[in-house]
Amino acid sequence: MLQPVGVGHKSLADYTHLVGRPLIEEVQQLAVELKGLKVLHLSATAFGGGVSEILYTIIPLMRDVGIEAEWQVIIGREEFFNATKLMHNALQGHPLDLSPSEWRVYEDYNAMNAEQLSGDWDVIIAHDPQPALMRGLVPEKAKNWIWRCHIDLSTPHRPTIEHLIPALRDYDASVFHLEQYVPDGMDGAAVHIVPPAIDPLSPKNMALSPEDAAFVCDQFGIDVDRPLICQVSRFDPWKDPIGVIDAYRAVTAEMPEVQLALVGSMATDDPEGWQFFNSTLEHAQGDPDIKILNNLNNVGAIEVNAFQSQADVLIQKSTREGFGLTVSEALWKARPFIGGDVGGIPLQIEDGRTGYLVSSPEDCAERTLRILREPELGKQLGRAGKEHVRKHFLTPRLLRDWLGIFKGLK
Ligand code: UDP
Repeated sequence: MLQPVGVGHKSLADYTHLVGRPLIEEVQQLAVELKGLKVLHLSATAFGGGVSEILYTIIPLMRDVGIEAEWQVIIGREEFFNATKLMHNALQGHPLDLSPSEWRVYEDYNAMNAEQLSGDWDVIIAHDPQPALMRGLVPEKAKNWIWRCHIDLSTPHRPTIEHLIPALRDYDASVFHLEQYVPDGMDGAAVHIVPPAIDPLSPKNMALSPEDAAFVCDQFGIDVDRPLICQVSRFDPWKDPIGVIDAYRAVTAEMPEVQLALVGSMATDDPEGWQFFNSTLEHAQGDPDIKILNNLNNVGAIEVNAFQSQADVLIQKSTREGFGLTVSEALWKARPFIGGDVGGIPLQIEDGRTGYLVSSPEDCAERTLRILREPELGKQLGRAGKEHVRKHFLTPRLLRDWLGIFKGLK
């Protein structure tokens, strides 16, 4: 039996004042015909990163509208996560395929998990590549299988994606954040383009008063009377925390009072995380105004919320980014935002209107200084960003899109 994840309760009606009645009614109408549909989400981890963030919200809301949604986490050990992390990197463009023995580890764990998979589902949604082979091994366990891709597949390492394509093509449908992520060779398979969304009512995104945000940040050694720039993300080379430190150094050359917080959770399925965490620490060279924090410092959802609410500029300087939930999270707090011009970030940031898009630490530093020197500009960007998120990237919209996909299945 795979590990079930408990997700608590949420009510769609609570979102009405945030997204408006028409969308809520549209969701309720779509749900009428889908009552009792048995849907299983399969993922590699219940902790850390965007996938679990989304599932903790979308599953309770699916249940609230009558879908019998469950979440199970596949079984994996270090050797499996080492292989799937390599795969993740190769699929996002790193030119290194898995070795034959790593592919075998991947296949063996998929086989083991497929054997453990129980039940009789209307729909199984496999999230990301980790459980992607399971459909081919036990197709009879669900009437329909959907592959949900959360990563940037725009320039994958060819041998790696080609190895996976036959398994992916067999799904009844697949779902990508952006059109440019759909790999060549999906042929006749049904493909849907649906970006993810954030939960405005979760502890991470609910309204926090400036006093409460400052109170929390103060406990982590931030001087709340001095400017703060901040990036929230896993310690991963694609998130470029090293580039953020370089940008911070260029900023402090002109405004020495600025502080930097790098807040990064360590995911259980990310063995590279610790190594990269240490190189980030090293790059900070003991600067007391750079705070490098992770969930083992007790940085949970409320603390992330506090840092995002307190920061004068929020950064996500990724060089690859499937979507970047942290972007919508930042905008929802009406904070001025600067992000890498890659992947899903431009979908959320219209350069100069809802934030800034940059391609180098120098650009990032220049935009940061501009915002810090012109608070009115920051406010304007933040306000426009929040409205953009309200329209496009809050969970009820994502729920509507999922129900639409379920409706189209056989
Ligand atoms: N996150 C967190 N604590 C941290 C770092 C990240 O809770 O210390 C959350 C972050 O707020 C966001 C998610 O992890 O909700 C990361 O999702 P994103 O799409 O930005 O990136 P991914 O990690 O999936 O590549």
